[in-house]
Amino acid sequence: MSKINILGVDFDNKSFKQFQNEFIGRINMHQSTFTVTANPEIVMAANENPEFMKILNYDADYITPDGIGIVKAAQMLGTPLQERVTGYDLFTWLMRVASERNLRVYLIGAKPQVIHAVQEKVAREYSGIQLVGAKDGYFNEDLEIVAYQIERTEPDLVFAALGSPKQEQLLALLRKNLLPALMMGVGGSFDVFAGAVKRAPLFWQNAHLEWFYRLITNPTRWKRMLVLPKFVVNVREAKKEKK
Ligand code: UDP
Repeated sequence: MSKINILGVDFDNKSFKQFQNEFIGRINMHQSTFTVTANPEIVMAANENPEFMKILNYDADYITPDGIGIVKAAQMLGTPLQERVTGYDLFTWLMRVASERNLRVYLIGAKPQVIHAVQEKVAREYSGIQLVGAKDGYFNEDLEIVAYQIERTEPDLVFAALGSPKQEQLLALLRKNLLPALMMGVGGSFDVFAGAVKRAPLFWQNAHLEWFYRLITNPTRWKRMLVLPKFVVNVREAKKEKK
């Protein structure tokens, strides 16, 4: 099956490699492409917010399963997804591609000192990139104004790390205006990229406990994680309904 529905959100059932191939094709064709990397929190938020659900199911071109909770839910529903495809892995790979091909990249999101550190890292390690914009995520302008600022720089790639649903709202505006770029919401990726937040060591990642590592290293996350048990309950109910 090419799409797997988890509580109303249609995920693309593709491997990391398949996403890579399709993205390269779309970059070559300058096709306007909006990718959402969705975890259980995003699925739950969309279930509470019809506008956000519309963005996911009508405006996005791709939805990748970012989070082991999504992969497990798909298994439980008897419609397994090929693999977890994280926003961070796609982001770092695309930055590499952009550097090799001298692409124009616009980065928006995270705290001023973080985006500054990201800029320095790009200059150091991804020097082929033409960084056409690097804006922190704590702006006061309306999203329409910010979208216009981005469009004017004619980027090939846009990464928004503003948290959800703000990053998806911004990218949906650009997608509606048919900006010929590959655009992706990447959540906390700039913090990790800049070294401000560490990704879980491999042991935790392999044990599928990255979420637990993030919880113990950043205890303020527990409030957000309260939606996760509800996610599991809702998936169980969806499974019963399917039978
Ligand atoms: N952020 C931002 N503007 C805001 C709120 C958040 O730029 O108004 C940034 C924040 O600094 C962080 C990212 O958005 O870098 C979201 O991180 P979060 O941990 O929420 O991401 P996720 O867990 O969804 O990957």
